[in-house]
Order: sequence, then C-alpha cells, then structure tokens
Amino acid sequence: MNGEPDLYVGGQWRHASDGGTRESINPADGSVAAVVDEATDADAREAVSAARAAFDDGAWRATTAAERSILLDRIADILQRDKESLSVLETRDTGKTLVESRIDIDDVTSVFRYYAKLVGVEADRVIDVGDPAVISRVVREPIGVCVLIAPWNYPLLQMSWKIAPALGAGCTMVAKPSEVTPLSTIAFVHLLEEAGVPGGVVNLVQGSGAALGAALTDNPDVDFISFTGGLATGRTISKVAAEHVTKVAVELGGKNPHIVFADIGTGDAWDASVDQVLTGVFLHSGQVCSAGTRLIVEESIADDFVAELVTRAEKIRMGDGMDAASETGPLVSEQHRAKVEGHVASAISEGAKLVTGGSRPSDATLEKGSFYLPTIFDRCDRSMGIVREETFGPILTVERFTEEAEAISLGNDTEYGLAAGVRTSDPARGERVVRALRHGTVWLNDFGYYTAAAEWGGFGKSGNGRELGPTGLAEYQELKHIWHNTAPKPAGWFKGE
Ligand code: NAD
Repeated sequence: MNGEPDLYVGGQWRHASDGGTRESINPADGSVAAVVDEATDADAREAVSAARAAFDDGAWRATTAAERSILLDRIADILQRDKESLSVLETRDTGKTLVESRIDIDDVTSVFRYYAKLVGVEADRVIDVGDPAVISRVVREPIGVCVLIAPWNYPLLQMSWKIAPALGAGCTMVAKPSEVTPLSTIAFVHLLEEAGVPGGVVNLVQGSGAALGAALTDNPDVDFISFTGGLATGRTISKVAAEHVTKVAVELGGKNPHIVFADIGTGDAWDASVDQVLTGVFLHSGQVCSAGTRLIVEESIADDFVAELVTRAEKIRMGDGMDAASETGPLVSEQHRAKVEGHVASAISEGAKLVTGGSRPSDATLEKGSFYLPTIFDRCDRSMGIVREETFGPILTVERFTEEAEAISLGNDTEYGLAAGVRTSDPARGERVVRALRHGTVWLNDFGYYTAAAEWGGFGKSGNGRELGPTGLAEYQELKHIWHNTAPKPAGWFKGE
C-alpha cells in the first residue's frame, strides 16, 4: 500500500500487472486511508496457479499436523505483538471504534490458538470391519486449493475464520479481502510471511469481486470456495462453482429477531434486555451480519421498552473511531449510506412509525464522514421491506406479540436464519422457544457473543456450511477411507471354471 506492492503471489510481493490501484477511503472523514494495488483477472489467475503449484508440489501438505499447529501458535503470537497497528488499520478502513478493532484482533488471535490446539489432537478414525486381518481407517487430508473471499464489516476477523483452518488442514489458498477494506489483510499476510508460511501457500489479491470473480470461482484449479458476504453474491458464486462441481461454503446475510417476553420483569433483567437490544442492533452502526435488527416484544411492555430504547439510542456518541470518546463510528462508505437511506425512505412510505433517527446527524464535525443516526421504527409488520430485507445499518424495527407461539412464528418468518435472541425469566419457555427457532445461533438472555470453539453459520438463505469449531476445520478436509488387508486372499467371486 502507498507505493509498496500489495499482491502476494507465489511468495513474491508485486504490483498489479497493469499498474492499477484503488483508493481505500476512511469513512470517518472521507480522506484517503491508503492507495492499494488492484489486481487484474490475469493476476488473480496467476495467484490460483501459484496456490495449485504449491499444493501439487506436496511439501506443504506433507507437513505434520504438529508442525502446522506450532505455526498457527506462532501466528497468534505475532498477531498479539502487532495488535495495535492492525487495530488502527482496521479502524481507518472500516470506521469502527478502536476499542472494537482491538477486540477483533484478540478474536482473530483466539481463532489461530483454537485451531493450533485442534489440529494437534485430531486422530484417524479406526473401524472394526469384522475381519482381524483388515485395518480400516478414515484419515483427513487437505481439500486442496481454497479461494477465501471476505466482506468489509469484520475484514480480518472473517478472513481469519478461513485462513486459520485452511492452514491447519494443510491447504493452499488465495485470499481476497473486500475491495472496500483491504488494509488489515495486506498487513496480516506480511505477518504470515514472517511467521514462516512457505511461498505459494497463502496468496493475496485485491480488487472488486465483479472483476476478479471469474478468475477465482470459475476456475477448475480451485477445490473449495469459502465465501462470506451478501446473498446475491453467494448465489452467483454457488452457480458458477457448480459448473466445476467445486465445493462451496457460503456465509450470507441475516435479518435477526430479538424476542423479549414481558416476564423479564422490571429489575436487572429489564436493564440488561434494553442494553443488549440496543447493543445488538447499533454496535458497529448495525453493520453486523448477526445484528438483532428485529425487536419482537410482548405487547404489554412494548411502549415502555421502546421508550427506554429511544432514550438510550439518542445518547449514543457517534464519531471518528480513533477518538476514544466515540461509541460508534460511521457507515463503511457513502455508497452504503445511500442504501440505508433508501431503506429508511421505503419504510416510511410503507407506514412504519419512525420514533428516532431516520437521518444523518446534524453535528457539523461529522459532516465529512458517512454517519447515520441510530434509527428505530415502531409499529412494523412482517409485510414491510424494512422487516424482511437486510439493511446492514443502524435500523431497529419493532413488532409486537401477545402469545408465545406468535413470537416464534414471527421469529421464524424470514428467509434468513443466521442468529436470534430470546429474553425470558422462565427457563422452560426459554428452552421451548430456543429450540423452536430456525437460526444457526440462538442466545438466551444474552446477545452477540460467540466462541471460536462453536460452529457459526446459518439456516435458510443465511448460507450453508459452518465456520469455527471442529466443523470449520472439516470444511477444509477431504475424508479418505483406507482399507488395508494384512493377509490378502482371493475374493473367490469368479470361479475361473
Ligand atoms: P458482498 O457480497 O458485496 O461482497 C463480499 C465479498 O465478495 C467481497 O470481497 C467482494 O469483492 C466479493 N465479490 C463480489 N462479487 C463477487 C463475485 N461475483 N465473485 C466473487 N467475489 C465477489 O458483501 P459485503 O457488502 O462485502 O458484505 C456484507 C454482507 O456480508 C452482508 O450481507 C452480511 O450479512 C454478510 N456477512 C455475513 C457474515 C456471516 O457470518 N454470515 C459475516 C459478515 C458479513
């Protein structure tokens, strides 16, 4: 970046073959955060070929799990050493607060630590086939060349959910961060080089998905595509990959319900519920795939609950993520703010009742950034676009219910199924509702937390496949059954008579 080469192909840093670059914009003030090389289709194809060659060469995939485990731990150490500089890059690129970026880098570190442990203890599965002469075992092998495509909301975190298990499994790869937020991934790939990842194992290209998509996904040299991003892109990639019967895992959007029952009462549980509904939707200005954008609240407490939310939403301090006083930053780009504004205008025209926000902040110091006020719409119903479509911005819609079954029906009435929250003081009801919800992660009396050891992914159109946990490693592995007869004898089927 800024004159240094940003593409990493076959262990060499280089500029784009046609000299192309792209400005990465700091959304807090519209300034240019960095100028980054923009790969061509030919550069991306070379990156895939380099990953193919590194895989077929066999040296990397022949490393032992123990060796790869040590490497993953070393990467985790380096991430912690450089936590501050990586956090600053993440904040400049995404606009999120520095506090959030630091948490992200800690989370990235724990993903590497988790897979360092897991690959170190994985064992073959031995099967008793009923013949003592036969040793039957199922072994795990790397799936091959992986294309890893990440979105802009958690740039390095989402990429780490892919790179860590891919390295742990012994795969080679081409990583493509979002063209909107490439900076932390470029810095990170330098760290991988320092940690001793061999040339060709991790390759890096930057550029728009539209320009590089075909080279990365419509390519017979690719064995697995792991994609995180929007539903439309996920569909396109899945269709293209099907031509080559390439395995694809897609982590897509969400329209996540947060259900609040009146039995939470008025004490600490009330306070925690208001706080977590607020955080669940307005953290990172709502640009979170699992954001709790649909409040589904029991009618008897709805007026008071929404009034309290409005009071707190209006106190959220917006500002440059580098400013320690800021509680939330801008939207990632002007283009994205325009999309959010379009959704708000439609919601108003559909009859949703705007109770706070609904505009850019009036504060003159925020004028140059792509800020948007925390916004709440009351009296929404499931026919409205604002309730059904993912806005990916600081927008909360409120739907009301009177019966438990109605709450469940509303919570499941989405084409997505990524995450949901339930708040109740009744443990039996909690268990009933949690089990009835068709979402990949469900929080009971909490919201937004996750761990590297538990699978993450969606039901419905929130995607297929899982990241994190043991399944997140298995995605990068092929299973091979080895049948070894230690005392071979004729099958005796054909008599030769
Ligand atoms: P996006 O789909 O526009 O882009 C995601 C990535 O795909 C980018 O790197 C982009 O360059 C690339 N891309 C675009 N078109 C492509 C093509 N034809 N071929 C190959 N690559 C292509 O999504 P975004 O706007 O960057 O991210 C926001 C979306 O990501 C939201 O829908 C959000 O819910 C989702 N998301 C999901 C999760 C999850 O875990 N399920 C996590 C984070 C974000």
